[in-house]
Formats: sequence, C-alpha cells, structure tokens
Amino acid sequence: MTKFDYDLFVIGAGSGGLAASKLSASYGAKVAIAEGDLVGGTCVISGCLPKKLMVYASHFSHFPQEAAGYGWEIPQGKFNWQKLRDAVQTEVKRLNQLHISFLEKNHVELISGFASFVDPHTIVVGDRQFTAERILIAVGGEAFKPNLKGIEYAVTSKEMFLLPQFPRRFAVIGGGYIGTEFAGIMHGLGAEVTQIIRDRFILRGFDEDIRTNVQEGMVNHGINFHTCIDSNSLSISQHEQGLTISFNDGEGKPQTVEVDEVLAATGRKPNLTNLHLELAGVEVVNKAIAVKEDSATNQPHIFAIGDCTDRVNLTPVAIAEGRAFADTVYGHKPQYISHNNIPSAVFSQPEAATVGLSEFTARELYGNRVKVYKTKFRPMFHSLAGGDAKTMIKIIVVGEEERVLGLQMVGKDAAEIIQGMSLVITMGGCKKDLDNTMAIHPTSAEEFVTMI
Ligand code: NDP
Repeated sequence: MTKFDYDLFVIGAGSGGLAASKLSASYGAKVAIAEGDLVGGTCVISGCLPKKLMVYASHFSHFPQEAAGYGWEIPQGKFNWQKLRDAVQTEVKRLNQLHISFLEKNHVELISGFASFVDPHTIVVGDRQFTAERILIAVGGEAFKPNLKGIEYAVTSKEMFLLPQFPRRFAVIGGGYIGTEFAGIMHGLGAEVTQIIRDRFILRGFDEDIRTNVQEGMVNHGINFHTCIDSNSLSISQHEQGLTISFNDGEGKPQTVEVDEVLAATGRKPNLTNLHLELAGVEVVNKAIAVKEDSATNQPHIFAIGDCTDRVNLTPVAIAEGRAFADTVYGHKPQYISHNNIPSAVFSQPEAATVGLSEFTARELYGNRVKVYKTKFRPMFHSLAGGDAKTMIKIIVVGEEERVLGLQMVGKDAAEIIQGMSLVITMGGCKKDLDNTMAIHPTSAEEFVTMI
C-alpha cells in the first residue's frame, strides 16, 4: 500500500477549508492545510466580517438626527477613516490569529504558501512537495473586473478596506451584493455616492419588491443612481483632480461622473489561476471546478467546496459543504447538503433578506396557484426619529394549504428576522403555521404572523 504524507491535504484556509480540515482531523485523519494569504479567507480577511463592521460604522451618522426626536441633543461627530480602517484591520488580524490557534488545537498542520498540483496526489508549496491520499480544493473566488478602458483605476472590494484616504466622491460600478453594500457604507460614512448599473434596478435575481424597495430607500438617503447604462461604453480616465467615469445612459446620451475613487463590484470568479488543475486531471466547467453532489470532482479522491465550485457563493454554504465532506469521508456519516432555500441578506441600507422563491420564480413554477401577502409600513422607531424609511414584508405561498415558498423583507434587522423565519420553509410550513404563532408586540417581525 502506498504511504502518503497526509490523509487529507486542504488547499485554501478560508471558511470552507478551515471547517473541513478541523472536522476531518477530529475524526482522526492526518490533515495539512495550505494557505498563500492570511488564514481566514475572503469572509474573514476582506469580505463579510470587515464589511459588517463598516456597515455598523456607517449607521452612526444617522444617530444625532434620529436621537433628537427622542429628546437627545447629540452634536454631529467627525468621522476619521484612518481610525476605522485601522480598527477593522486590528480585528481582522485578531480573527486571523484565532483561526490559526483553532488549527493548532485541532492538530491540523498549517503550511504557509501558495499550493499547486504536481500530479493527482502531489502538491507543491514553494520548494516543498507533499503527497496526500485525498485532496480538498477550497481556494474560493476573486473579484472579476471587466475589460474596460481605464479599469486599472478602479479598486475591488479587497482594496476598499485598505484605502489610504477616504474618498469624498465615490462611485460603484455594479448593482450586486458588494456594490450595493459599499454604496450604503460609503454614503453613511459621508461620501457623495453614485451607483452605476446596467439594469433598471439593483440586485438582479432578487424579488422585484426587494429590488425596488432597497433602491427607493437608497435614493431617499441621497445616493445617486445611473441606471440602464450601456456597459460597453464605460471607461475610466485619471486626471489631477481624480477620476472621470464616462458612459452612455439608457438613451444613448454620453454622461460623466467625477469621483475620487471607483469600486468595480462586477462579480467574482473561481480563483483557479496557477493551481495547475490540469496536472491532476481535474475537470473545470464554465471556469469553476465541476463537482458531484458529495463535492467529489471527476477524480474520486479530489474534492472541491465553496466559491471555487460556483454553486451558491456564500460563507455558510462553504462551511456546510466542508463539514458534509468531513462527515461523509472521515466520520462515516454520509451528509448531502441542500442548495435550495438558502437564506441570504444584503447589508444594504435599507437592509434586505430573503429565503425561498421570489414571486417571479414562484409564479413561473406554480402559475396562478401562487398567492402573495404583502405589507409596507413605517416602523415605529421613525414615529419620533423622523424620516420616512419603510419596511416591506412579503410572504409567497402556494396551493389551498398555502405552503410557504418564499419570505422577503426590506427594513431594519431584515437579516436577523429572516434567519429565524427561514425555519418555516425548511420545515415545509404553511401560512396557517404563521397564523397560529402568537405575535411579539410591538415589533416589525410580528407582521409575518399577523398578516391577513
Ligand atoms: P454580483 O454577481 O452579485 O453582481 C455583479 C454586478 O455587476 C451586477 O449588478 C452586474 O450587472 C454588474 N456587472 C457585471 N459586469 C458588468 C460590466 N461589464 N459593466 C457593468 N456592470 C457589470 O457580484 P458581486 O461582486 O456584488 O458579489 C459577488 C458574490 O459575492 C455574490 O454573488 C455573493 O455570492 C457574494 N457576496 C455575498 C454577500 C452577502 O451574502 N451579504 C455580500 C457580498 C458578496 P447585471 O446584474 O446587469 O449582470
């Protein structure tokens, strides 16, 4: 029998790779994990976690005005970008160290450096080679920048966390999760923000009521939008005073936006460059690693999880895929995770969250058997704080038994509320189950159980 250096070699210490390596080691496997950057991956180092801290930071600008309605006289403070940026980086480094210590505690060997394949069982990291019985690829994704004139002047979300100066005038190209979240962050921190999108509304693929209500809320906050632009006409040029973004609007008229910084939030792609998958014979389809339900590639001993497989590119999904792999292969408890009904949130301002089907998809699948319950209201907080921010809640059901297909929300704490409510869908619940649930009063979430 061939002797390998490791039972399992994991490439990439992001959320998925960390979860899989620790759980596999806990089942007794000899595990190594290679990481070419900081341990933690996109979510911890330059994604979800630093982003959420910046979302919190951006909320404070509203407080003095809102508090005034409640009798507090709070002078408008002064925002210091360098202080926030450095505090966020200190927290990122703390989390990075924490994840390294979790690996040590779980007896997973950390190998620092960029790993690539030599052959189906051999990995090279720098000048060292390792063999493994099984290999798990968990290399994540990277920002994708379209091929536009002057695109080199645009930063990606990764650089946003490290900007040397706070941009007074800021633009985002793209209307997805990242662009919409950063538009809100930068506006809250005091920048003049413009979002440039090629559809009528942001967040393509989300329920129409999420798309329109989030955009309407952002416009009310003072964010500028250029919609339906011709993305082929986009270009960026640099001059002494900053950057000029040029494009043709929906009517073909040339437009320009002057900014100090522009974020290209135009999607992400699997991070497969220099991995030499061809030397391991691993199949790639549409620029992502092709995997079966159990995350196995076409090579039965090589598995892939997370964003490099381009299934559902969310941290909790990568973690679930990593744990399912470890449980199945080393824990002898076969687990298959479902990629349906995955709740997700956009930490935009207003915040949005969703689980299950959008109204459009539900109607496509079930036609006129679909019924929609919807409400839009001004949350109680604003009765004294002022402002006309609205909350939108929507329940999509099907058939006589009114089985819940989708839940949609825009408004304060939407992510926290939908996380709890998503149980209704996982358990195959019906509208009557919501109706039979007693409300907590006064809350916004009570609308989910009181709507008629
Ligand atoms: P998305 O795929 O969500 O959005 C990309 C946006 O860029 C779309 O609006 C798209 O327009 C636009 N776009 C693409 N190409 C061009 C172009 N050439 N010119 C102009 N616009 C263009 O990507 P993101 O980068 O926002 O996010 C990547 C992934 O990260 C998400 O899919 C998500 O999985 C994950 N993520 C999740 C978060 C969360 O859970 N809160 C937060 C951040 C990221 P169009 O719609 O017209 O195609």
